[in-house]
Order: sequence, then structure tokens, then C-alpha cells
Amino acid sequence: MLAYTYIEHGKFKLLEKPRPEIRDSRDAIIRVTLSSICTSDLHIKHGSVPRAIPGITVGHEMVGVVEQIGADVLSVKPGDRVTVNVETFCGECFFCRHGYVNNCTDPNGGWALGCRIDGGQAQYVRVPFADQGLNRIPDTVSDEQALFVGDILATGFWATRISEISEEDTVLIIGAGPTGICTLLCTMLKKPQRIIVCEKSPDRIHFVREHYPNILITEPENCKEFVLQNSDHGGADVVLEVAGSENTFRLAWECARPNAIVTVVALYDKPQILPLPYMYGKNLTFKTGGVDGCDCAEILTLIEKGKIDTTPLITHRFPLTEIEKAYHIFENREDGVIKVAISSKTETN
Ligand SMILES: [Zn+2]
Ligand SMILES: [Zn+2]
Repeated sequence: MLAYTYIEHGKFKLLEKPRPEIRDSRDAIIRVTLSSICTSDLHIKHGSVPRAIPGITVGHEMVGVVEQIGADVLSVKPGDRVTVNVETFCGECFFCRHGYVNNCTDPNGGWALGCRIDGGQAQYVRVPFADQGLNRIPDTVSDEQALFVGDILATGFWATRISEISEEDTVLIIGAGPTGICTLLCTMLKKPQRIIVCEKSPDRIHFVREHYPNILITEPENCKEFVLQNSDHGGADVVLEVAGSENTFRLAWECARPNAIVTVVALYDKPQILPLPYMYGKNLTFKTGGVDGCDCAEILTLIEKGKIDTTPLITHRFPLTEIEKAYHIFENREDGVIKVAISSKTETN
């Protein structure tokens, strides 16, 4: 089969590899129909994910059809269309039992697919703990509608869940990249009084204005002032930091009102400064990433009911054989790209 592979620092390549096989009775083999490229894939390519293993197939956002299951898999059967979770989790350890699946203590717990074990920018993928890692896609939901359920949409959903948003709140979301927009969609479900999005890219500002006209938009330079003018208690009641840029952590706590919740979804390249003397008395609550991706069934139900639609995020489509080109466009943010959908359907599968 074809598999997009991490060769070495700075280099991915589409290789011919053997099809994955069941190794454990809780595994499933999925025939990938659609996958996507995530910024984390670029982090692997550029060496900022030291635990990524050269030779692995990359990709951790995908949907497909169950091809084969191990003897102990109960929740899916061959032929089922499924979403694949970015996180591998056993469902049994202390952290899993409390819903903290990102910290599952299994050796492959957490983000393993497309990082430490073979991922899904390929024709087939092996998913460990299939009962936890797979969710059946409702018949009325398309592959494109379900594509982001296991990763960026799970992240947006989790981030808004832990942010304790109420209908009185002014919510500030910093960053309108793909994960920022998923966070926006999930925040909208909580019906806060106002949502403000802070973004600097004209393309992304345009995207938000076009698709979500009721959302207030500001740029980073004016953000503090804008939030002050458009909130009731001297700042945002909830801040979600999804940008991970040079100054956005500082912006996040500066724009928060006293006693606000500041949820840091972003993954930073560098350590951030937490200047406690300057925020003394502000009594902030910080919550930090990464995602506990265990709400996928609920997210699929919301998509089925028409309450979440991430299909506008798919701006580009390519077959797996042209994945090189897809990476080029995504990495260089060409042509107004938000997300690409890679189709793994070829004549041979
Ligand atoms: Zn990702
Ligand atoms: Zn576990």
C-alpha cells in the first residue's frame, strides 16, 4: 500500500509499504478513505516532536471503513464507517477512567498514531484499542463531515468543555486557524453573550466574516482595547488561546477579567513566561492542553443533528498520490488554504 512516511528531519516521502496486520486482539485495521494534514505533522517534519520515530507513516486525522478486527473488539465490525481518534487509550487505567485519556499510562497512550506508531496518510492503518479509538459514523453523516472529529474538532470540543462557558459570558478566542475555528464552532453551542475572535491573517479574518457573520473580530494590536470595549467586567470572562504565537500567551491573560478562566489550547515552540507579580490579585484560573479526546460519540451526534459543520474548513482536495503537493500548499498557506482532504481511494482499494 502507499504510505506517506517520515524519512528524516525535513523529509517525508510516499512509499510502498506492506499492509498493516492485527497484532493484538484489541486492534482493528481500517481502510482509510479520507485523511487530513495537521500542523502537528509539520512539527514532526521539522523536528520539533523528538518522540516521532523516523520510518513511521504520518497522519493522525482520518476516517475510513473497518476492514478487520481483533477477537476482543466489540464496538465495531468490518464494513462500519468510522472516525479514528488521534489518541490511543486503554480505557482502563486511572487516567482513562477519569476521562483524562491524553495521559493514558499504556506505552502507546496519548498521541501515538502517526508519531510513534504508523498513522493514516496511507491506504490502511492499524488502530490499537479499537473499542476506544474508533467511533461509528452515522449513516447520514459523510466522510468529509466526520473528518475532523478525532483531532481538531475533539480539541475544540474539549477546550470549550473545560472552559465552563455560560450564557452571560464574553468569550475571547485567540487564533482562527483550523483548531481555532473548531473551538469557535463548539463555543457557539454554549450560546455565550458575545464571542470575539482575535486573528491577524487577512485570509482567516475573511473566512470568519464570511461563514460566521455574528462573531466580533479584532486583530492582535487592538485586541486588549477591543475586548475592554466589548465586555461587561473589564475583560473577557473566558479566554481560549489557540494561536500559540510569540505574544499570544501574554495577550490571553491580559485580556481576561479578574477571576476569568484562561484555557491554553495552543502548543508553543518555546517556553512562555508566567509573570505572577503582574497578575497578582487577578485570581485567574489557567487550564492547559492537550486534548482529552473522549467525546467523539457526542460530537458525531451533534454533526448528525446539524449543530456542528466543519466542511467549510475543507478548502482543498487531493488524492493520496498527490500528497506532496497538498503538503506544499498547507505548509506555505497558499491559496487561502484552511484544511486539505486527502482521498486514499485508488483503483487497488
Ligand atoms: Zn493534529
Ligand atoms: Zn488508559
